[in-house]
Amino acid sequence: MTADGAVDLPQDPVVVLGGGLAGVACAHALGDAGEPVVLVDRNDYHQFQPLLYQVATSQLPAEDVARPHRVIFHKHPTVRVLTAEAVAVDAAAHRVTLGDGTEVAGSHLVLAAGAQPEFFGVPGAAEHAFPLYSVVDAERLRRHLHGLVREHAHAPGTKDAPEPPPGTLDVVVVGGGPTGVETAGAVAELMAALTRTGRLAAPARVVLVDRGTVLLAPFTDAAHHYAHGHLTSVGVEVRLGTGVAAVHAERVELDDGTAIPTRTVVWGGGESAAPIVLGAGVPTGRGGRVDVAADLSVPGLPGVYAVGDAANIPGPDGRTLPQLGSVAQQSGRAAGANVLRERRGVPTEPFRYKDKGIMAMIGRNAAVAEVGHRHHTVEGPVAFAAWLGVHAMLLSGAHSKTDAFLSWAWDYFDRDHSALVEMTDAPHRIAWEDTTADVPHIDPGA
Ligand SMILES: Cc1cc2nc3c(=O)[nH]c(=O)nc-3n(C[C@H](O)[C@H](O)[C@H](O)COP(=O)(O)OP(=O)(O)OC[C@H]3O[C@@H](n4cnc5c(N)ncnc54)[C@H](O)[C@@H]3O)c2cc1C
Repeated sequence: MTADGAVDLPQDPVVVLGGGLAGVACAHALGDAGEPVVLVDRNDYHQFQPLLYQVATSQLPAEDVARPHRVIFHKHPTVRVLTAEAVAVDAAAHRVTLGDGTEVAGSHLVLAAGAQPEFFGVPGAAEHAFPLYSVVDAERLRRHLHGLVREHAHAPGTKDAPEPPPGTLDVVVVGGGPTGVETAGAVAELMAALTRTGRLAAPARVVLVDRGTVLLAPFTDAAHHYAHGHLTSVGVEVRLGTGVAAVHAERVELDDGTAIPTRTVVWGGGESAAPIVLGAGVPTGRGGRVDVAADLSVPGLPGVYAVGDAANIPGPDGRTLPQLGSVAQQSGRAAGANVLRERRGVPTEPFRYKDKGIMAMIGRNAAVAEVGHRHHTVEGPVAFAAWLGVHAMLLSGAHSKTDAFLSWAWDYFDRDHSALVEMTDAPHRIAWEDTTADVPHIDPGA
């Protein structure tokens, strides 16, 4: 701050909007080179989305999947982090306006604002469904499930709870992509654990609904069958070929005319670009994302780049790359390198995505991966090892102690933590050994 209270910002910085995997990678690339950066994010922490469903199902505390930006950039003195909501973007002017009216502008603007859940206009979905896109979303879902279990399940060691109304504890998961499949698997395991520990007489129903004909559609047939087989084996009812027509507080209606009583609809049904991107004066395409050129710049807007989930990034075959952590991280880093080239008067280079494959961890002892550029399908522990390698790499952008993550994850994959999973406030933690200052403050009321 300056003496008159104004925000003291570096001269002619690169403005990065969004401190997720893409924005952090971009700011790191620029900060490593000593370039001035202002990174804007509404949260003072970075959140790691691949572990959100573990938070929602009480298997990890929210603080374990978030990391303060201040800590991430403590060795990058030229990166200035502003914790503020961006309310407007003028892309042509490389300018972002914050909620308090402050304007931040620089030589370049990198749009890394990520995505938001897309409800496709389904009535009641925005009001009643639980999206799983942020730490706050995951914590909200965990508290909701916790409240239902506390109210309607037996107290530990007793059989005193009256029978709840039908559907009270049942969960409907919308979407058969990785988010929906992983969440349905974890919720089914939670219900099984609550039954084993005597809290429930029988596991609550877990239903996964998807309009398509297979689970994990972007994967191969072998993976479709593996995911379907595993989910049904842990008790998930998989309903394909039908979509959600409406979501109400106590039931969900499907396209085929059936209604499922439930108070918990988890929305993994799709995403579109963060709303701030839509009014930014940039050309948008599929999913409201910014259509970028091969070097990740926005055509017609010199000095503007878009990366990660906010962008439609062309792959080597011309098709748009999927919204994945590794695409976000690599594109963020590459955009940072191109901004650096421009600031030094050197031509930019096209982004080349190093495809590590696609993978999903469906539950304990169950994972599927398609590895290598030929996307060879592997299952079980081998797939999990691939998942682990890729995710440790993603996490390393925010956390230096990836060995703690590796050992937590193997334990999670290998062992049954049913006693701990019993909607506990003290789940088995990742041994980050953080100091108090390293632990983010997460406000689930936000
Ligand atoms: C539940 C879930 C599970 C996933 N699992 C996997 C997986 O297993 N493997 C994998 O590779 N990928 C996975 N993904 C996808 C992956 O997490 C994303 O592709 C990646 O995180 C996108 O990074 P990003 O930086 O583009 O966006 P984000 O990580 O979403 O970051 C965007 C940032 O912008 C900030 N922001 C947005 N708007 C504003 C505003 N107006 N003002 C201020 N700040 C703003 C947000 O607070 C956020 O910090 C998963 C995604 C989800 C939702």
